Amino acid sequence: MVMRKILALILMAVSLLGAAPKKPKLVVAIVIDQFRYDYLTRYRSDYHGGFDLLLTKGARFTNARYQHFPTVTAVGHSIFLSGAMPALSGIVANTWYDREAGMQVSSVSDPETTLVGGLPGVGSSPRRMLVDTVGDELKIADDSQSRVIGISLKDRAAILPAGHMANAAYWFDSKSGKFVSSTYYFAEAPAWVKEANATRPADRYAGQTWLGHQMPQAGQLYSAIEATPYGNEIVEDFAERALAAEQLGQRGVTDLLAVSFSSNDYVGHAYGPDSPEARAISAATDELLGKFFSALDRAVGLDNVLVVLTADHGVAPVPEVNAARHMPGGRMPDGVIAKTVQDTLSKKYGKFDWITASLESVVYLNRELIAVRKLDLAEVERTAAEALRNVPHVFRVFTGAQLATGEALEDSVGRMAMNGYFPRRGADLEVLTDPYWIFGSTGTTHGLPFGYDTHVPVIFLGSGIRAGEYDNNITPNDIAPTLATILRVETPSGAVGRVLVEMFGQ
Ligand SMILES: [Zn+2]
Repeated sequence: MVMRKILALILMAVSLLGAAPKKPKLVVAIVIDQFRYDYLTRYRSDYHGGFDLLLTKGARFTNARYQHFPTVTAVGHSIFLSGAMPALSGIVANTWYDREAGMQVSSVSDPETTLVGGLPGVGSSPRRMLVDTVGDELKIADDSQSRVIGISLKDRAAILPAGHMANAAYWFDSKSGKFVSSTYYFAEAPAWVKEANATRPADRYAGQTWLGHQMPQAGQLYSAIEATPYGNEIVEDFAERALAAEQLGQRGVTDLLAVSFSSNDYVGHAYGPDSPEARAISAATDELLGKFFSALDRAVGLDNVLVVLTADHGVAPVPEVNAARHMPGGRMPDGVIAKTVQDTLSKKYGKFDWITASLESVVYLNRELIAVRKLDLAEVERTAAEALRNVPHVFRVFTGAQLATGEALEDSVGRMAMNGYFPRRGADLEVLTDPYWIFGSTGTTHGLPFGYDTHVPVIFLGSGIRAGEYDNNITPNDIAPTLATILRVETPSGAVGRVLVEMFGQ
């Protein structure tokens, strides 16, 4: 009797779950750079535009958290439409030291390409990402009839979500004030891009003032607008132009437009998550998304569009703001990690240059020297790690050997570090600071495995998506397999997430 009741309950629960929604004409995949989940709830009363629509008509996941370290822009954007951890995708950071090339590289830097549309310069491509994306699978499934386009202020934020087979990725070049691409995609920009750039989209903000911050007349204008809502406005305007010119969602096949709004990140770094600026740009983003959704409705009909929105990471409070409210935290002394490693290894093994590269909290050791001195790399790592563990406010130190062999402590932080480790690109030492402790002497930053850096919005809006709040724990890695299921295409090659079936249904 009890068993039959349980069975009946299970069947009822299963019948509540609908089949995957019908295939949309257009997928609009939005990242708000550094947009913490709590911006949705703290500033809810400010929202009457795009966020309001998403929060009332969409499926909102209230507990989406990243499960990797470091929580930075390139990694978050690579996960968005691939579902893959850095351990598989190879996108381990914004920049890392390439041991083979003997130089520091960015996640998208590609010396085999050049910029298209702006001043001459080295271009960017998705070449360093080793897995594919939803857009790639969409194009494989229909013989490249689908169009896939990525747009952002930042190159990595435009390129990584769009994937390898994308028709184009466009980003803002703060030297020329134009949207640029690279020869990876084409030798010459389409006519509509030239027309958009001919309007000098950023110049109209010269001399304007936002919350007391006045834009220069020239000179630094293009980089100055990045840390204001103006940066998002030029991205949205460019996305609307792409929608019209490329006829996205208007050609009888499913297209994908990935748009990443970076200005929220620049504002957050400069002023912090508790500043009037962070609140103001959140409200401005709500209004801008409202405008964007209206444009989508006119061009494609919102019923035919599947919108998904997330963020690539969160951000820590400004340490001084936290201190004033009796919360923990502080700033690490400049260069303390590299200095500790260099001093410790010099004392034990002799005075040599023991570090090949160090980026804030990670260290790449001089492996040539270690080999020449006939030392054991793992032992040298251990020596340095022990010294680093004694640095005040160092929370955890991982060595390359620990992460490569799975010897890292198997708690949640250890798993996140392993998810973020890719042997050929990983550092020899990775240092995590205590919660609320950051590197850098001004503003604030992100990158740690703590809630303020990992908790982000995940919202879907579209026909066949059941509106409401979903409180179960999920990760942004679930977005890509969910999209692949809705689009009836193969799940991207490195995806580790699950399909969010709970939101399927009317
Ligand atoms: Zn970011």
